Amino acid sequence: MPSPETLPLLLKQLRLSTMARLWEPLLVQSEEERWDPSRYLAVLCENELNERHSRRIARFTKESRLPMGKTLATFDFGQTPKIKPEMIEALTQNSDWVKRAENLLFFGPSGVGKTHLAAAISHGLIEQSIRVRHFSTTALVQQMQQARADLRLENYLAKLDKYAVIVLDDLGYVKKTEAETHVLFELIAHRYETGSIIITSNQPFGEWDKIFADPSMTVAAIDRVVHHATIIEIQAESYRKRQAILHNHPAGFEQAIAEKTDK
Ligand code: ADP
Ligand code: MG
Repeated sequence: MPSPETLPLLLKQLRLSTMARLWEPLLVQSEEERWDPSRYLAVLCENELNERHSRRIARFTKESRLPMGKTLATFDFGQTPKIKPEMIEALTQNSDWVKRAENLLFFGPSGVGKTHLAAAISHGLIEQSIRVRHFSTTALVQQMQQARADLRLENYLAKLDKYAVIVLDDLGYVKKTEAETHVLFELIAHRYETGSIIITSNQPFGEWDKIFADPSMTVAAIDRVVHHATIIEIQAESYRKRQAILHNHPAGFEQAIAEKTDK
C-alpha cells in the first residue's frame, strides 16, 4: 500500500492537477462535515472535470480568434426587428446543424450586426466544446494562396478540419484578382458536407461572380454552400452609424461615408 505522503505525486503523475490542489482542503472539509469517502472522491472528481471544461473553453476561445464581447447578451434584438431571437438562440444552443455540417449565412449591409451574430453563435458553440475558427476571408484567401504557392494547400485545408466551424467574415470583400487561384472554391468544396461554414457578406448571391473566377465556379460554390444551409438576411440601419449619430460624434459622418463606399 502506498503511503499517504505519495498522494500529491500520484495525482500529479495522473495529471489530475485540480485534485492535487484540492485534495487537502476538501479532506479537511469532508472530515468536518463527516462526508462519506465516496462523496469526498466524487466532489474531487467533479472539481477536476469542471476545471478541465473551463480550461478547454478558454483554449477554444483563444484559438478561435473570435472578436471578444460579441455575444447574444450584448446583442440588441430591438435593432433588428426581423431577426427572431429564438431562431438565433436555437442555432447557438442546439448544435445539431454543426454535427450535420450545415452552413449558416448572414447577408446585409455594413454595420447591421452580421459579424456580431456570427461571433455570438460561435461563442455559444464553443461553450459546448465545439471548435471554431474565425477568419477575415481576405486574410484567409491570402494565406491559402501562399500555401498553394508552397504546394501545401491540401495540408493547410486538412489542418482546418479540426475546426467544426469556420467563419468566413466579409466574403464579399474578396477581390476577383484573388479569386483567380480558386482557393476559396477549394475550401468550400473541401468542407462540403464535412464541416460547417458561417459566412458573413454584404454581397448577395447575385454579386458572387465578383468573388469567384468564372460563372460556372460561382454556381458550383453557391450550390455547395446553400445545399444544407440557413440563410439570414439582416435589414436594419447600420448600428455603428446610429450609435455615432446618437452620441453626436463626428464619426457618424465618417461612418456614413465609409459605408457608402463599402457597398
Ligand atoms: P457587420 O458585420 O454587419 O458589418 P458588425 O457586426 O461588425 O456589423 O456590427 C458593427 C458594430 O455594431 C459592432 O461593434 C457590433 O457589436 C455593433 N452592433 C451591430 N448590431 C448590433 C445590435 N443589434 N446590438 C448590439 N450591437 C450591435
Ligand atoms: Mg462584419
